Amino acid sequence: MRIDRIEARAISDSRGRPTVEVILHAGTLRAMASVPSGKSTGSHEAVELRAADGGVMKVLGNITGEIASELAARDFSTPDALDGFLVDLDGTPDKARLGANAILAVSIASQRLFAEVDGVPLWKAIEKRGGFAAAPPQLYVNLINGGAHANFRLPFQEHMLVCKGKTSEAFAIVRTAFAKLGARLGDVPMGDEGGYAPVFDTLEKPFELLASLVDEYPRTRIAIDAAANELRANAGYDLLGKHLKPTQLAQVYEGLAAHFPLHSIEDPFSEDASADFAYLTDALRGECLVVGDDFTATNPLRIERAAREQAINAVLIKPNQIGSVKEAIEAVCITRSYGWEPICSHRSGETMDTFIADFAYGVGAHGIKAGGFAQKERIAKYERLLEIEREAAE
Ligand code: PEP
Ligand code: MG
Repeated sequence: MRIDRIEARAISDSRGRPTVEVILHAGTLRAMASVPSGKSTGSHEAVELRAADGGVMKVLGNITGEIASELAARDFSTPDALDGFLVDLDGTPDKARLGANAILAVSIASQRLFAEVDGVPLWKAIEKRGGFAAAPPQLYVNLINGGAHANFRLPFQEHMLVCKGKTSEAFAIVRTAFAKLGARLGDVPMGDEGGYAPVFDTLEKPFELLASLVDEYPRTRIAIDAAANELRANAGYDLLGKHLKPTQLAQVYEGLAAHFPLHSIEDPFSEDASADFAYLTDALRGECLVVGDDFTATNPLRIERAAREQAINAVLIKPNQIGSVKEAIEAVCITRSYGWEPICSHRSGETMDTFIADFAYGVGAHGIKAGGFAQKERIAKYERLLEIEREAAE
């Protein structure tokens, strides 16, 4: 396949910040993609290229200039060949030259073109590409926002309900639970990811509220993203005005896991605190998953290192942390090779692109984090999963 022409423009993400959208043309075929953007970004992520004022004009120029002309000069027989070419063209270890946002937008749109050429849905193309068994991911729905996504009204960034089973059933259950919680909380602000953003004076309060929903909906469990990288202070962590050493924070998690129906804890410590991750993973073995996000950054090398250190047992997969679909698929394969669970994730600044839904379903992920129900950009991912459920049944 030859990409003859690329259009690129800036669109607004869910926070109103500019991000990249592309349209790829190959003969009579065309495919679009846009890329999301994080706020609680770790330092090991591929480089999202932006100007000091947040603008993406330079990235758009990289896409319509160098990337478009290099691609137009070549035929690619597989999406892996195309992605590999883009990664080599950039030539840096972190995609700092062309931008991970430029490369990922083209990588996703070209995966859509290859799927169209093969006449299969996007999730099916991803399933075949990585040799996966497609399956519906558990829904990790953000009910209570805190951390950097809610001006630190609460220390932990996400308090979620995880629901297993058929997407249509899980979606209906969590949507009802979300509305019930809203009625209980009354008039509170919403966070960046479309969940409620109340203020509580105890760390336990959100867990108590979610645990009562778990009692009502037994198919659900609680998951959190502590996003502890954002809570770092003086060789420890600040939570609700208290300074905790890593060992004290570990005790907090152990207490929460003992008292509440906790399914997983993401980024319980800062991005390089391997020994603390390893301690907690061991302490909570068989009870609760420990998930790497900023810790692993969807980077095959960092996942391998985490495996050597037995630091976690689940990995968050965010394609824009690494910058190409090919490498995100590799990250899933490596995660699985250690018997760990991949959980696919949106970013806090999202667009209407639903690629992550097809990706999560196609790789048969353990779960998908796609936010709360107060934002259309989040609902779009759940609606795409519902559509996939119908496509898979055909
Ligand atoms: C996360 O930390 O898991 C997340 C989705 O937030 P962000 O996109 O801000 O990194
Ligand atoms: Mg996270």
